[in-house]
Amino acid sequence: MVLGCRVAIVGAGPAGIMTAALLSKEIDITIFEHKSPLASILPTGGGKCNISNLESDFKEFAKNYPRGEKFLYSILSRYTSEYTLEYFKKIGIETVALDNGKIFPQKMSSKFVRERLLAQIKGCKIEKNEIKKITKNDSGFILKSSNSKYLFDRVVIAIGGHADFSILNDLDIKIIPPKPALTGLCTATNYSSLSGIVLKNVFNFETRLSGDLLFTHFGVSGPIVFKISSLKARDDFPYWLKFDLLYDKLQDLKDFQQILNDNSKKEIKNILSKYLPQNFVGFFLEKIGVNPVLKGSEINSKIRNLIFDTLKNYQIQVLSPRPDGETVMAGGVDLKQVNPKTLECKNISGLYFVGEVLNIDGFCGGFNLQNCWSGAFAVAESINSSG
Ligand SMILES: Cc1cc2nc3c(=O)[nH]c(=O)nc-3n(C[C@H](O)[C@H](O)[C@H](O)COP(=O)(O)OP(=O)(O)OC[C@H]3O[C@@H](n4cnc5c(N)ncnc54)[C@H](O)[C@@H]3O)c2cc1C
Repeated sequence: MVLGCRVAIVGAGPAGIMTAALLSKEIDITIFEHKSPLASILPTGGGKCNISNLESDFKEFAKNYPRGEKFLYSILSRYTSEYTLEYFKKIGIETVALDNGKIFPQKMSSKFVRERLLAQIKGCKIEKNEIKKITKNDSGFILKSSNSKYLFDRVVIAIGGHADFSILNDLDIKIIPPKPALTGLCTATNYSSLSGIVLKNVFNFETRLSGDLLFTHFGVSGPIVFKISSLKARDDFPYWLKFDLLYDKLQDLKDFQQILNDNSKKEIKNILSKYLPQNFVGFFLEKIGVNPVLKGSEINSKIRNLIFDTLKNYQIQVLSPRPDGETVMAGGVDLKQVNPKTLECKNISGLYFVGEVLNIDGFCGGFNLQNCWSGAFAVAESINSSG
């Protein structure tokens, strides 16, 4: 470790602050942040902060990152969620795991996590300034804001996924253009009359995922849609999604015919309401032009096939991500330029990237914050032990 080494951390989000907290106290640390430090942690987990996930196998853990899976093997195997939770315990944050594997602070408060983390960086200087440009010469890294210039030996870039990446232009860093991920999706069909209605456990053909589909005023949302939006984050819009809305309810056409036979005096809208929400059934029948009061016995094979095939292959045209609805950005610093053990830039010694600034993004469940924590451990270890 270099005594008196000057380290700049650009960005005071979870990744930057955790890095600062873990760096040796003998290092001269300056954190640059143009907003409020750790403000970005406040909305996480709906204000409760889903810190990490219970999954203990690092390869299984890494499967939750549509971008970055293999790259993360090294840091996730060394700095597991268990390792992270021990650190949180040491700084006074007791945690609790829910049945779905999500880990939260026992106090269920991201404000509390923020306070405890900020308490760990008391010795660091915080400059309320936006860094506009970074260059390197023989003396070190030069950071420029609109009114100042600073010199550092090492720089940790922790600006997140929504940042202006042009600050890296002079360093010749390749950026994969960021795209919104983990978001609701705007659809061509207007589903606002169904806003709030949930279709339970539908199956999506493109991603082989199943889960609950929520209709909203802008289109579709819910856990399955968030995951789909991540997996298809780099696809061009518009695109089509196909769902089986009767996935675990009805498999065969002959079973459907049997149901029609058994309910020959019932209206089709009431027959289908046993499997799908009533509002959706009315909306659906109108869209495909079937009279909702037709009795089971009045449904001929053509209508039967139309209803069944459309529900088993329900098509939704997606126009765009929900504006400003993303939880993370898919894209960022191209991982090919980064050492996966230390997160140091392969071509520029002393330059590190940590957190969402990297082309790494995870699903919901604490995976995005764990990327920040594990990355911060790796960066701090590398800087603390460097000569
Ligand atoms: C609503 C919401 C809920 C979420 N919930 C969860 C959750 O429960 N669990 C989970 O794992 N993930 C969650 N996430 C994702 C998680 O918050 C992010 O992945 C995480 O904050 C990324 O941390 P980061 O430090 O890499 O970047 P950021 O949090 O984006 O922080 C980057 C910081 O850098 C600063 N900055 C940028 N450019 C400059 C510059 N040029 N100069 C100075 N400062 C700069 C920014 O102002 C910012 O403060 C959620 C995200 C959202 C939006």
